[in-house]
Amino acid sequence: MDFRSDTVTRPSDAMRQAMANAPVGDDVYGDDPSINDLEQWAAEQHGFEAALFCSSGTQANLLALLCHCERGDEYLCGQQAHNYRFEGGGAAVLGSIQPQPVENDPDGTIPFSKLEAAIKPDDLHFARTRLLSLENTINGKVLPLSYLAEARAFVDQHNLALHLDGARVYNAAAALDVDITEIVKYFDSFTICLSKGLGAPVGSLLLGDQALIKKAIRWRKMLGGGMRQAGILAAAAKIAIQENATRLREDHENSRYLAAQLNTVPGFSTKPEFVETNILFAKVDSHINQTALAETLKNQGILISTGHPMRLVTHLDVSRDDIDDFISALKAAL
Ligand SMILES: *Cc1c(COP(=O)(O)O)cnc(C)c1O
Repeated sequence: MDFRSDTVTRPSDAMRQAMANAPVGDDVYGDDPSINDLEQWAAEQHGFEAALFCSSGTQANLLALLCHCERGDEYLCGQQAHNYRFEGGGAAVLGSIQPQPVENDPDGTIPFSKLEAAIKPDDLHFARTRLLSLENTINGKVLPLSYLAEARAFVDQHNLALHLDGARVYNAAAALDVDITEIVKYFDSFTICLSKGLGAPVGSLLLGDQALIKKAIRWRKMLGGGMRQAGILAAAAKIAIQENATRLREDHENSRYLAAQLNTVPGFSTKPEFVETNILFAKVDSHINQTALAETLKNQGILISTGHPMRLVTHLDVSRDDIDDFISALKAAL
């Protein structure tokens, strides 16, 4: 049982079968039928002109930033944004693109008044503000559709492009019970991680218009991301969306259940009513030695992250029974 992340999911038998049988070619020549099929299908499925299969979410987000921004440009994003905090500063390191982080509200949105104040005037002293990058879900929170519509109006008013880090955008769609297009239609580009809750072993998608994807293919090659017979991966990736997108709501129910059960554990407290998707945060009393606790549980085959707050993640490889077993083991260990 692994509660550290939804990246730990293993490919299903159907995925392994599809991988074994996938027709392949050299994707750098555009010759891989399975990659071409995935990219065309994904573009149609999401109402976009084009899609690009990438090695990871980090690569897909970096490509988006490199496509929207030139050297000396900047992007607005949340202070909590993955593509600001957790991607090694790639846009600055590799693109000479400056991030302009703005504090997120607790619900994950960024107030437009603060965003507006961060836009630089057209003056040679400043970087050129080009892009607003949002994230959905962010720390497990779902951005409201009304906020996305306002974000579109905001970028149109200020002549910016709008990108979505949608690593877990299917979790957002499941939580809102809407078709994915209801979320992504507001954006000029977006990314999806196929290797998290959707269960593929490797890969992310970047979606955008033809011009953006053409540019992204060039940057991807430069970054060493020109893969060859990667159709083996694309075959699993397509199944990930087709088979696992709708079951994400089970993970969300399990996450709320886990939050409620954790409240019966001395020293742990959560707010189940604030759990929106598959990620929950628990307050843990400081007298609990989390490192020792994690070690004890690890010896029983249960993996958790430590932290204040402690982050726990549900996914297709943890069932409701697993959660009951975890809670019993946790109480025993304490
Ligand atoms: C995981 C994640 C990424 C990056 O994905 P990798 O495939 O791990 O590189 C980007 N954004 C968000 C919000 C993520 O959770």
